[in-house]
Amino acid sequence: MIHHMHHRTTILFAVLLLLVAAPVAAQEAERDLTKALTAEAQAALTPMEVIQLLKDGNQRFLNGEALERNFLGQVRQTAEGQYPMAAILGCIDSRVPHEIVFDKGVGDVFSARVAGNFINTDILGSLEFATAVAGSKVIVVLGHTECGAVKGACDHVELGNLTSTLANIAPAIYAVTDVEGERTSANKDFVQAVAHKNVDMTVQNIVNRSPVIRGLVASGDLIVVGAMHDVATGEVTFYEDAMITAESLSMAE
Ligand SMILES: [Zn+2]
Repeated sequence: MIHHMHHRTTILFAVLLLLVAAPVAAQEAERDLTKALTAEAQAALTPMEVIQLLKDGNQRFLNGEALERNFLGQVRQTAEGQYPMAAILGCIDSRVPHEIVFDKGVGDVFSARVAGNFINTDILGSLEFATAVAGSKVIVVLGHTECGAVKGACDHVELGNLTSTLANIAPAIYAVTDVEGERTSANKDFVQAVAHKNVDMTVQNIVNRSPVIRGLVASGDLIVVGAMHDVATGEVTFYEDAMITAESLSMAE
């Protein structure tokens, strides 16, 4: 009998959930994805929905089904203001253009790029603007395979100002201790482990070094997630097991 009631309660709960979730999903399905985001459309999105929109865009890119956009039309739509869904911190690598690999248009995403996708004060400030001021719901730290900056850091390359740029990747190199073989760019497994570690550490650093961003995450308005772009296939894999959400923050405290 008790078991029976439990079952009915579960069904009732599921129906209620559907009723609550449906309007958001329907709204998003109806929204013309080739049009720039409005303030209302941005406000209606949850961080997890934004991650799904980024995944959907990458899948369209992989399928050769990128949406046809009128970029000049989007320029006119966004002339009065911008309401991007996400901020993406990636490498300067020419093979990882954010808007293209996520199939996004003008006004859809903030884009911060530096060789090796790490943070410093200026990039962190830029991410604070993108989220706390401009309302983005997700920060993606986007690493990529075959990263020249990571390889250079692994080989302790020294060249002009690049020497100090690559020093930002050193902590990830020292943190990788479980890969066999030599610790240079000749070892592909080592290079990729450092690229992955660098993404994970950057995700953590963003939340640890920015009380502004940490506050947005704690209130459920923002998720910080790492991802890896495979330059051989164009596929982006999200590291959702290591993403920082309000739940993961409260569990860590
Ligand atoms: Zn790179």
